[in-house]
Amino acid sequence: MTRPGMRRTATLAVTAAALLAIAAPAEASAGPGTPAVVTAARTAAADVDYGTWQKDCRAVMDQALPYLQQRIAQPKPGEKQAIVFDIDNTALETDFGFSFPQPANKPVLEVAEYAQEHGVALFFVTARPGIIAAPTEYNLEKTGYEVSGLHVRGFFDLFKNVADYKTAQRVAIESKGYTIIANIGNSATDLSGGHAEKTYKLPDYGGQLS
Ligand SMILES: [Mg+2]
Repeated sequence: MTRPGMRRTATLAVTAAALLAIAAPAEASAGPGTPAVVTAARTAAADVDYGTWQKDCRAVMDQALPYLQQRIAQPKPGEKQAIVFDIDNTALETDFGFSFPQPANKPVLEVAEYAQEHGVALFFVTARPGIIAAPTEYNLEKTGYEVSGLHVRGFFDLFKNVADYKTAQRVAIESKGYTIIANIGNSATDLSGGHAEKTYKLPDYGGQLS
């Protein structure tokens, strides 16, 4: 089980690596028209390149979409349907780009757009701390997600197991009357604990992507 402290250390290390890459333009080998910074950042996070990550994400979303199309078309009487998303390396391209706003993870955004166009509420449950709730919501909306709810960690949540925290947020969403038809994330701690009809696991490459 990854502790929050370890996770933050890993993120800081990744950020430092990206800054080093930005500070060393002589290392850049990007072709004309390709910003060197983006190229450097997109290969800094994990032992996998951006194209492979996108292909792997799309393979999972290619399974999610037909299920969601069918499930959304067959609501139970009075049902309010919802989908829960993790943010980092799920809804957004956290570890493959160091810009703000961060770009949407396109295969996931496409599924989200289908759902929101068909009246499904999108909830975002993240281990990000509450202090960055406002820029996070701005980022999600700016990149195309319609945010029905953003669940960030409060001070006392920082001492809880991440999986338990995330499960408690899904229980809270259900208590508002929503049926969670899918939970989409890239870490095991996003998806364990039930309270979703289906779970879809994007790659984290053995914990390399937060
Ligand atoms: Mg994540």
